[in-house]
Amino acid sequence: MERQAIEIENLRKTYAARGRMGPKEALKGVDLSIPAGSIFGLLGPNGAGKSTLINILAGLVRKTDGKVTIWGFDQDTNPRHARASIGVMPQELNMDPFFSPRAALEVQAGLYGVPASERWTDEILELVGLTEQAEAYARNLSGGMKRRLLLAKALVHRPQVLVLDEPTAGVDIELRNMLWENVRRLNEEGMTIILTTHYLEEAEAMCDEIAIINRGDLIVRDSTPNLLARMDRKALVVEPEAPPTDAIALPEGVALETRADGRLAFTYSRGKTSPEAVLDAIRAGGIRIRDVATEQPGLEEVFVELTSDRKRA
Ligand code: ADP
Ligand code: MG
Repeated sequence: MERQAIEIENLRKTYAARGRMGPKEALKGVDLSIPAGSIFGLLGPNGAGKSTLINILAGLVRKTDGKVTIWGFDQDTNPRHARASIGVMPQELNMDPFFSPRAALEVQAGLYGVPASERWTDEILELVGLTEQAEAYARNLSGGMKRRLLLAKALVHRPQVLVLDEPTAGVDIELRNMLWENVRRLNEEGMTIILTTHYLEEAEAMCDEIAIINRGDLIVRDSTPNLLARMDRKALVVEPEAPPTDAIALPEGVALETRADGRLAFTYSRGKTSPEAVLDAIRAGGIRIRDVATEQPGLEEVFVELTSDRKRA
């Protein structure tokens, strides 16, 4: 059986009421397993519960209910091993302004009980491109450098699973490319990577599998090729001179839906059917076309559709 890096069962989190805010149910019973060796993308709009999920994995937020297993270690019965198996690059820039990158990594290694002989501080600094700034005060680092340092800190104990919470939100292209390069390289060396991102093209380019969460619920989890296949669907929308009287013989894989406004939407897979074949079928069905349009869902639309509460008519 395929090894799972992370197994999450019925994970729930309700934040306690604060001030005038009532209690907040941030995760409503999430089941998710993430195979070892993959680059896994967690997508969802703001407030979906991504950081909550990730912070529970990191041991920074206490779950309300459910079971979390990291690299085979149950978080409740084996918290030390569970924690040692995962490294997290948090979304927030929180760091001590007086530490240099090198000192910050040494402190972090100490916190994780990494013996001096097993530390790889110089290699990490090199990997994230902070060798020249190794001795600089953290407060003098640029925002991008601070982010690199956050990634570096997540690596000190050589975790099997690396989690990055919106690593590229608001960073420049150069840093983004550097981050993705590092992620790919670490993955090639065997590390399982979990990341959250709003950049859907990036999830598409980077991730083997993608899960989408919205308002604390897991909406979809599929391989990236399968999600892309959904986007391979294209629609030819025809306004007929008159409503069709007989059933239309459709090529295989083409679906017909009559819309509320009387238009006929023929959806087909770009990879399998040509628009010419669809038009031929329409004409052969005796339909006279008053007007025609094409529609093509992008990942954005698939995402919006999957996460919207209202089903499309
Ligand atoms: P995401 O990372 O997907 O944007 P979060 O996990 O940060 O989502 O937040 C999920 C929900 O939980 C949001 O409604 C957020 O306001 C709420 N939330 C997050 N942290 C806290 C907290 N410490 N106390 C109360 N509510 C919180
Ligand atoms: Mg977040």
